[in-house]
Amino acid sequence: MNWKHKLAYGLFSQATDFYKHKRNGLRILAYHSVGTPAYHDEMDLYNVCPLMFEEHIASLKKYQNINVSSLNNLEIGDDNLAIAFTFDDGYVDNLKYVAPLMEEYQYPWHIYVVTDFIKNKKKGFMNSADLQELSEYKYVTIGSHGKSHVHLSECNNEQLIKELHDSKKYLEDLLSKNINSISYPYGSVSKRVVDEARNAGYDIGCSSYININRSNKDAMSLCRTPIFSYDNSKMVAQKMFGMWDWMKYFMIDSYKTID
Ligand SMILES: [Zn+2]
Repeated sequence: MNWKHKLAYGLFSQATDFYKHKRNGLRILAYHSVGTPAYHDEMDLYNVCPLMFEEHIASLKKYQNINVSSLNNLEIGDDNLAIAFTFDDGYVDNLKYVAPLMEEYQYPWHIYVVTDFIKNKKKGFMNSADLQELSEYKYVTIGSHGKSHVHLSECNNEQLIKELHDSKKYLEDLLSKNINSISYPYGSVSKRVVDEARNAGYDIGCSSYININRSNKDAMSLCRTPIFSYDNSKMVAQKMFGMWDWMKYFMIDSYKTID
């Protein structure tokens, strides 16, 4: 935890009436691993323990006016708050802990996988059999997180096309399903990346820029709010309701985002 987070904890930890001040729109939560070390995570920010995750999910029942939404057939309402769940990278722990729990609660969720990690049977990540098993679950939608987890906006045109097309085709061949959503690794996105992703046949794209999404938002550059290892369910609620949206001022919005 760095000083900004410590400061915010201090300021917000006593706040309890945040629901009244919630920002409406679509809030997309971005998780990574649940119970195992995350990829390139030197600060141990992105590994939420399974019990904590269960607590996050169970705590949603408290808020009756909030819908848990899928990003499929996306329609963003500006007068209510909808929550969507996304998981990046394709950890095998997502199959073990997330899939059964989301099934039990009947909450839709999205997972974005790196196809080279699958092909190479990278330790800690799902292999092709795991992914096929996952795709049998009713509430999950599988999307691409690129072919090799590189910064897409730094790729030359040839590499970019490969990352977008090859990962999509690999997943479609493996799962016999249409793959239409992508999460850009490291949130690395630009107009060129979005245009090429559209050409490849994607119509939903998730960035890592922190904010709520309103109805005027381009579906190819949706904002997300990260959930960190140390976030308890109260912190998750604060993030859902927009109390942590100030974090965007510490980020670079590489692809113009509409507030
Ligand atoms: Zn990633």
